[in-house]
Amino acid sequence: MPDDMVIGAGAYGMLVALELARLGRQVQVLEAGSVACGASGGPGRRGVRANGRDLRELPLMRQAYRRWPVLEEELGGQGFYQRTGHLLLLERDDDLASADARVQMQRSQGIDCRLVAGAELAEIQTGLSQDIKAGIYCAKDGVCDHGGFTRAVADRARKLGVVVQEDTEISHFETHGDSVTAVITAKGESIAFSGNLFVLANSGAHDLVKTAFNLQLPVWNACLQVMITEPFGRIHVDTLLGHVHRMVSIKAEPDNRLMISGGWHGAWDVTGQRGSVLPSAVEGNLAQAIAVFPELQGVEVAKTDADHLEAMSVDDIPIIDRVPGIANGYVATGWSGHGWAIAPVVATLIVKWALSGERSELLAPFTLKRFGIN
Ligand SMILES: Cc1cc2nc3c(=O)[nH]c(=O)nc-3n(C[C@H](O)[C@H](O)[C@H](O)COP(=O)(O)OP(=O)(O)OC[C@H]3O[C@@H](n4cnc5c(N)ncnc54)[C@H](O)[C@@H]3O)c2cc1C
Repeated sequence: MPDDMVIGAGAYGMLVALELARLGRQVQVLEAGSVACGASGGPGRRGVRANGRDLRELPLMRQAYRRWPVLEEELGGQGFYQRTGHLLLLERDDDLASADARVQMQRSQGIDCRLVAGAELAEIQTGLSQDIKAGIYCAKDGVCDHGGFTRAVADRARKLGVVVQEDTEISHFETHGDSVTAVITAKGESIAFSGNLFVLANSGAHDLVKTAFNLQLPVWNACLQVMITEPFGRIHVDTLLGHVHRMVSIKAEPDNRLMISGGWHGAWDVTGQRGSVLPSAVEGNLAQAIAVFPELQGVEVAKTDADHLEAMSVDDIPIIDRVPGIANGYVATGWSGHGWAIAPVVATLIVKWALSGERSELLAPFTLKRFGIN
């Protein structure tokens, strides 16, 4: 019988499983689909950025800056994680007026950043629209090949004895007193464990926790759109780019392609469990990218995707907590489109909490208590 049970084989599930295995625990991971089939998979890269992040997540991000290069090294230096810098673009006078305050706030949290304009801005990124007046630059920010990384963590975890069982949807839990003792699969099989339960099912967490514990988490699911362009030699992008008011984020992809995203949503088919892009969202996202790089006018889109659900929370920061009334059950979800960058740190802190009984103060902003749920 395993010590600990993890539901979900995305980045969170696999990082938690790896951490537990390193500490000598027997771990089983149960995944409805396959490793990295959810938000931790799909085309493009994920931003690993502190720039523009919610104040409450910045202490986690400060630690994540240290953790990412170490993890990259531990996984064999395959180039999943790269430090590229992040430039948060400013266009409107109002946003310029707020720039010093934003820089000051981030620096107060130990995030190294500065306001750049003119020649310095052009040196960091060429080809920007003349309307872009300045940018806030965080040199330590970067990107990660999320699917490759998650699968590599899964491989490493398996080598340490973690059992990763795919095609196994969990629909319920068995409890005795205040502890969960077994998970029940959608096919009715009961799988017992003796230690902790980690519900790291992201978009599946809401329904699972509601059915099993009658607990309604204030989260919902969104399928976020991503586009990959055809090779486009006219612009060279080295930096991760975001924008203070435009819904656009641009990342470099191999072969001179660009990844364009920025919070546009597709449509989710509940029956088929698939997402599809909406032509209006593709057009809208492209228009925002062209407003940043006028040279992008006429760029061909090679691939679009909205097939990877992410759980969003009402206050735009995640829920990371022990399930109320359950001594050995932990849930983390509601990443709101920016859960990737902090994953290695959050995974370590959840494991520490479960094994020591002591919650790090860094996790205090993310409890259910903030919604009046105890
Ligand atoms: C398009 C897109 C762009 C993003 N960009 C960024 C970014 O630039 N920077 C950033 O920091 N973050 C970003 N994010 C967010 C980040 O990718 C996610 O927060 C992170 O990957 C979540 O990891 P996870 O392991 O919690 O979830 P997932 O990877 O979704 O894993 C959860 C797993 O649980 C499984 N599951 C669900 N229900 C059940 C069940 N009942 N039984 C068994 N298994 C179940 C699912 O199949 C899934 O594999 C983005 C997300 C998306 C979708």
